[in-house]
Amino acid sequence: MLQEQNQGNTRGDGRFEAARRDSDGLLRETGSGRFGTVRRAQVNTVRFRGYYKGKYKSTERGRSMKVLDRFLNYVKIYTTSDHESITVPSTQRQFDLAHLLVKEMKGIGIADARVDENCYVYGTIPASEGCGDCISLGLIAHMDTAPDACGEGVSPQVIRDYDGKDVTLGTSGHVLSTDKFPHLKKMKGCTLVTTDGTTLLGADDKAGIAEIMTAAEQLLTGEIPHGKICICFTSDEEIGGGARHLDVEKFGADYAYTLDGGAETEIVYENFNACSAVFEVDGFNIHPGDSKDKMINAALVAMEINAMLPACDTPAHTEMYEGFYHLTDMSGNVEHARLHYIVRDHDFGSFEARKRTLLHIEKTMNERYGAGTVKLRLTDEYRNMVEKIRPCMHLIDNVKEVIRGMGLEPDSSPVRGGTDGAQLSFRGLPCPNLGTGGHAAHGPYEHVTEEGMERVVKIVLGIIRKYAAGC
Ligand SMILES: [Zn+2]
Repeated sequence: MLQEQNQGNTRGDGRFEAARRDSDGLLRETGSGRFGTVRRAQVNTVRFRGYYKGKYKSTERGRSMKVLDRFLNYVKIYTTSDHESITVPSTQRQFDLAHLLVKEMKGIGIADARVDENCYVYGTIPASEGCGDCISLGLIAHMDTAPDACGEGVSPQVIRDYDGKDVTLGTSGHVLSTDKFPHLKKMKGCTLVTTDGTTLLGADDKAGIAEIMTAAEQLLTGEIPHGKICICFTSDEEIGGGARHLDVEKFGADYAYTLDGGAETEIVYENFNACSAVFEVDGFNIHPGDSKDKMINAALVAMEINAMLPACDTPAHTEMYEGFYHLTDMSGNVEHARLHYIVRDHDFGSFEARKRTLLHIEKTMNERYGAGTVKLRLTDEYRNMVEKIRPCMHLIDNVKEVIRGMGLEPDSSPVRGGTDGAQLSFRGLPCPNLGTGGHAAHGPYEHVTEEGMERVVKIVLGIIRKYAAGC
């Protein structure tokens, strides 16, 4: 049972003996730090503490920092990434959080903590005594927040003993309503963290970072047996760069989990296969009064192309394992037109069939209007990790067991998107994704609960313990 917490136990002959503890498994004291204030009085809005000033020495004091305190420290740091930028990382401000994390990691005893030139933070926790041969697990989260919403000056509302009703987000006029987010009712009694309505919250993915850091500290201060644990905090995930510069070899993990978004019972190992498709159409423009049998109106050809696609295969008409063509952008006039689609399908065979359909449309249109009228450019984006996870389903089964052991029901629905883990899985590091307890990412309605984050810490520690016991 994961209600157990190992604490203050002895190792005698190197064998691990667990001591039971009935609490929620987390030590309650914060590290040193001054009191900060949460503005925007609302319901039971409270002060939070634990502002990190670089003096925090939890290991010396034998006390752990709470996941919520860590989270509140991280969200204050402005780390929005930028689509338009051509630098790596896309924004220098992500280094602010990276440097803070390196300092904090060193403070809890991760001696090799470092940040590289791509703004990736790495650190390892060596295996505990007797676990040198255990599987080495990686834990990954991203530091940037989505450019879709403002991530500067995040000023969270912390609502203790939340009443399960609608929450007014500061003076912004936004309301986090139970109508739109029915799961809020289940959060009654929890400590709910929301935005003040003017920014996103950044639970995506700073909740993941706070959870990994809290689990890491518990590994270093407690007596939980564990194999080598490899930690990486990436930059630029929100603009598609997340795992690109992760040095899998140096990282040193046999398997890894990303902690990124979604309810804490979520475990994702099936994602879309994805590509983009761009049709460029060159027309033949001539005076409309004199164009019979001569003019090729590129804009009309573009409309014909779209009409050849199945009208029911759009994001608005599909769910679960159903794939789609999604027209994201179009422009055009008589001379030239352009259609931009993203193509998604969980099944690799039907994904390839969708690409063939697009190529067939290109061929047909060129036969109809003359060679070179239509040019199609297909660019593969990512693939469904399931084929790389299937040979190591223990990665999923162990998580499900841990979640069930906590009296919760794991949710492994296929994700209708991609994850960093998909990329990593195809680069040789099988890497499913775990939920962080965060909801409604990328906008002012983003929220998370302290209890949800604490549960994720327990899930992570439970997984680590399971792999240590199994070797
Ligand atoms: Zn994310």
